[in-house]
Amino acid sequence: MPEGDTLYRIANRLRPVLAGKTIFAAQANPPRTGAMIDAESLIGKRVALVEATGKHLLITFEDRQVLHSHLGMTGSWHIYAPGQPWRKPSRRAGVALATDTHVTVNFSPKLLELVSDKTMQRNSYLRRLGPDMMLAETEVADVLPRMRKFAQLPIGEAVMNQTLVAGIGNIYKSESLFLAHINPWKRVGHLDDETLLDYLQLTKKLMRRNRHGGERTTRFAPDGPRLWVYERAGERCLVCGEFIQIRRQGEQGRTTFWCPECQEAEPATMSKNLTRYGRSGS
Ligand SMILES: [Zn+2]
Repeated sequence: MPEGDTLYRIANRLRPVLAGKTIFAAQANPPRTGAMIDAESLIGKRVALVEATGKHLLITFEDRQVLHSHLGMTGSWHIYAPGQPWRKPSRRAGVALATDTHVTVNFSPKLLELVSDKTMQRNSYLRRLGPDMMLAETEVADVLPRMRKFAQLPIGEAVMNQTLVAGIGNIYKSESLFLAHINPWKRVGHLDDETLLDYLQLTKKLMRRNRHGGERTTRFAPDGPRLWVYERAGERCLVCGEFIQIRRQGEQGRTTFWCPECQEAEPATMSKNLTRYGRSGS
């Protein structure tokens, strides 16, 4: 599942090749969800805005129509030069947009729809999205009252609920809970405000730090892995030497990686790891 920083980067890559450009060719295939898009209706439209909101990508045209896509588990956006062969079969293209300089293709979207900006603003899911961790102006304190309504929810599930906080996926969930010394199964109600705020601030910092692309990194050491626990199940913890665990979590069975030693289910303390993060990350 793409994380918020992925969508942020996609928006940043698509913006220069789409914003201000007129669509002169388009094709669409029906995705699994969302209405069939009338590709012909896109031709001649000029792109006004390309934005990421949480894990959603919004391409707004000057006529106030919005192409709304969600990548789900397997979706992607590719940018090609005109005539360049696509790296995936065209039947998987939910939508392809050609300008005079580029062809942008959204492969295998989970959701794809073309709606008016008014419909978009009424979109109950997007309206309910929590504060976006990729935005500099987001105040992590605004996440707190949302989380407090889910005292019984394990923290590893709460941070994946996009209506509480937008943009965190499996990778940042696992990595930042590790760095914060918080056990992913600890209930939100058992974490004090300071711990939650420190955790959210750390997550935002890590996500924004990765916003420019390159290999996603939460461990800024000169050598060794770039991630602390994610996809390291069965390997040794880089801090304590214990074996990293993996388990499915929540109704959707999202994978969580953690160190049972560093993240034991006791009151979490941030200081040790924040210091280490600050030192290795500066
Ligand atoms: Zn450990």
